[in-house]
Amino acid sequence: MTTPNPYSPQSLTNNKLMTETVNFDALGLAPELLKALAESGYTSPTPIQAQAIPVALAGSDVMAGAQTGTGKTAAFALPLLQKLLPLANSGTSPAKHPVRALILTPTRELAIQVEESIKTYAKHTQLRSLVVYGGVDIKTQTPHLKTGVEVLVATPGRLLDHVEQKTLQLNQVQMLVLDEADRMLDMGFMPDLKRILALLPKQRQNLMFSATFSNEIKKLADDFLTKPQLIEVARSNATNDNVTQKVYQVAQSDKEALLVQLLKEADAKQVIIFTKTKITASRLSRNLAREGIAADAIHGDKSQQERIKALDAFKAGTVMALVATDVAARGLDISELPMVINYEIPSAPEDYVHRIGRTGRAGASGVAISFVCEDEEKYLVEIEKLIKRQITKEVIALNKPSRSPRSTRASSSHQNKPQEDSVTRRAPVKKKSSDPWFDKPYEPSAQENLSTVSNRPNNTKKAPVAALLGGLVSK
Ligand code: AMP
Repeated sequence: MTTPNPYSPQSLTNNKLMTETVNFDALGLAPELLKALAESGYTSPTPIQAQAIPVALAGSDVMAGAQTGTGKTAAFALPLLQKLLPLANSGTSPAKHPVRALILTPTRELAIQVEESIKTYAKHTQLRSLVVYGGVDIKTQTPHLKTGVEVLVATPGRLLDHVEQKTLQLNQVQMLVLDEADRMLDMGFMPDLKRILALLPKQRQNLMFSATFSNEIKKLADDFLTKPQLIEVARSNATNDNVTQKVYQVAQSDKEALLVQLLKEADAKQVIIFTKTKITASRLSRNLAREGIAADAIHGDKSQQERIKALDAFKAGTVMALVATDVAARGLDISELPMVINYEIPSAPEDYVHRIGRTGRAGASGVAISFVCEDEEKYLVEIEKLIKRQITKEVIALNKPSRSPRSTRASSSHQNKPQEDSVTRRAPVKKKSSDPWFDKPYEPSAQENLSTVSNRPNNTKKAPVAALLGGLVSK
């Protein structure tokens, strides 16, 4: 489990082996938790769970390399709940329920998902949990916080807002989880993290999860973990073997027509399409809807409610194409997602790994297609360097080349904008657009998109639904 050099490739572990040889009973989990796991349909731990649970139960700090989809939430949630079990009580006084475990996540969607998992695993215990995140009225969260919760899941900014408003005390936190730590750093959360760490008791257990092990992550681990045990279940920065990766070389102006063609021909019932910017995501989902494809967008300009609605519609199968920016798509838990399309490839190669990790999860197979125009070839080179493999390149003939002036202009004027991560933290650079659509105020209309789409006659067929993971892949 540990190696002298924790970052060396020798520290990698064979996933299948771990899955086959361990079951949940053998991990020493409490009956209340085992019951909840059985009810969730989990029969055996995933590799990250098999490795992280015993180490965390033993009280060590953990640095785990695992992507979303590997079962990492339960890998930290189960030991965390087990360690808090002796403190569980039915007392009504808030003082009986101080925050004892804090889980920090980079995005609201991930925070919500994590807390849902905590609730599921803790349902036969008296431990309480709550999620707090920005983008919604802070006052709606305060009363819940005041009743007292043992497990708090939060995004960093909103957590600090609560601390400032004195609606939250962190002086009894004994366990801290940093989920998707690499993403937190990418999103510029380091100053917030430092402020939060300073508010916590020094004596505590820390569990850190990251999909990639960059130098910054190693530095963060050095700073904030004490003698961590390193656990890895997939080669960091590697891409999943179950995912067939392809590059379609295409002119920027033909991308939209190619996408429409692909979506109309594809067997895939649910596809996530990644764009670099929020504005491209919105435009594309509108244009796809106009083509009769059930589409919606999910990005940082959408309200929390709209994002959840779009996600639910996608999970339910009423939306086939979810156009997303990196931030919004991070951590989405949709299993058996057959296809991911990079409408624009990311300039940060790690983002490519995260994006295509949305498909081919938990042993299922998937396809990841990247549209690459000439300007983007330099990013492709970096990606191939990172994943240490060449991606097959193809040129696909367009059935009827379409060069809508709207799409051409919109794409080219925005293609070089930085990704949402950095954009959201800086003042947006306003560009004059000749397309009136861009000059209109943003239309927050997930509902409208959905109803527009579902009224179309060729959209009446209900797409089969990808199941949320409820059982482990049989290997
Ligand atoms: P995560 O990586 O934590 O986002 O988990 C991905 C998905 O795997 C979630 O839908 C979990 O409910 C599911 N999952 C987690 N652990 C197991 C397990 N041991 N067996 C089956 N499914 C699991």
